[in-house]
Amino acid sequence: MRIDLHLHSTASDGSLSPSALVWAARSGGLDVIALADHDTCTGVEEARRSLASHVHVIPAIELSTTLDGNEQHILGYFVDHQHDALSEYSDCAASRRLERLAGMIEKLRPYGVRLTLDEVVKMSEPGTRMLGRPHLARALAQRGYVQTVSEAFDRFIGDHGPAFLPTDLLTTSEGIALIHKAGGVPVWAHPRMSSIEKHLPHMIACGLNGLECYRPSATAAEVVQLETIARTHNLLTTGGSDWHGTWQGRLGDFFVGPDEVEGLLEIGGM
Ligand code: AMP
Ligand code: ZN
Ligand code: FE
Ligand code: FE
Repeated sequence: MRIDLHLHSTASDGSLSPSALVWAARSGGLDVIALADHDTCTGVEEARRSLASHVHVIPAIELSTTLDGNEQHILGYFVDHQHDALSEYSDCAASRRLERLAGMIEKLRPYGVRLTLDEVVKMSEPGTRMLGRPHLARALAQRGYVQTVSEAFDRFIGDHGPAFLPTDLLTTSEGIALIHKAGGVPVWAHPRMSSIEKHLPHMIACGLNGLECYRPSATAAEVVQLETIARTHNLLTTGGSDWHGTWQGRLGDFFVGPDEVEGLLEIGGM
């Protein structure tokens, strides 16, 4: 069984629609996927109805949270994707993200960038609900202000870049609570080794249940370290590609096996 528990669709900043993503997962040989769009579950229903019925879709979300001034992403697995509290949050996140994008565009003006929010929205894939930095980066590249999306992040909108603005949506504690409220399992997405020591006790106290240990970029040594930390703190281990589009390679090239994510699957009754 091939499993990928971290995928994005056009509901946030991925390049494929939820149903196209499920088809791509199928042709990539995946059996189980979790659709974990940023701050929204709006793609889940479409993905679950997709005709590629051999692929099991786990409802999920990736919340943008803030802890001590840094962005920390919290995944929520097996959430009730139609839960009122999540829908309410998503509505608020969508409008906050638009304001934030407008703010970042404003911060780019001194660098000679002449883009409008409307233009960035129009350049994004149809159906996009959560606009974010990747949409802005692609618009900057398309207009020739940068050569590549990476350059946009490196020069302007990376976490410490001059035109960066935080999402400022939820604290990590609020994010973990929201996932529990929606019946989900909160997992720390792509935790950095340097932040684990600092933040893990707080997150566990807030109700964190797991650590994302398996990622394409993680070295074997990092994986062992993360697994050990998870075991020590009685946390679930999860893994996924965080795939947004073909520039990250072929969907299905990275996967985890059932043993690596057994605890989570069990909670979901799988
Ligand atoms: P946002 O939620 O708007 O802050 O955007 C976060 C997303 O931006 C991440 O999920 C990635 O998809 C993307 N991202 C973050 N850093 C980089 C980078 N250095 N290069 C390309 N994409 C990035
Ligand atoms: Zn993303
Ligand atoms: Fe993330
Ligand atoms: Fe992600």
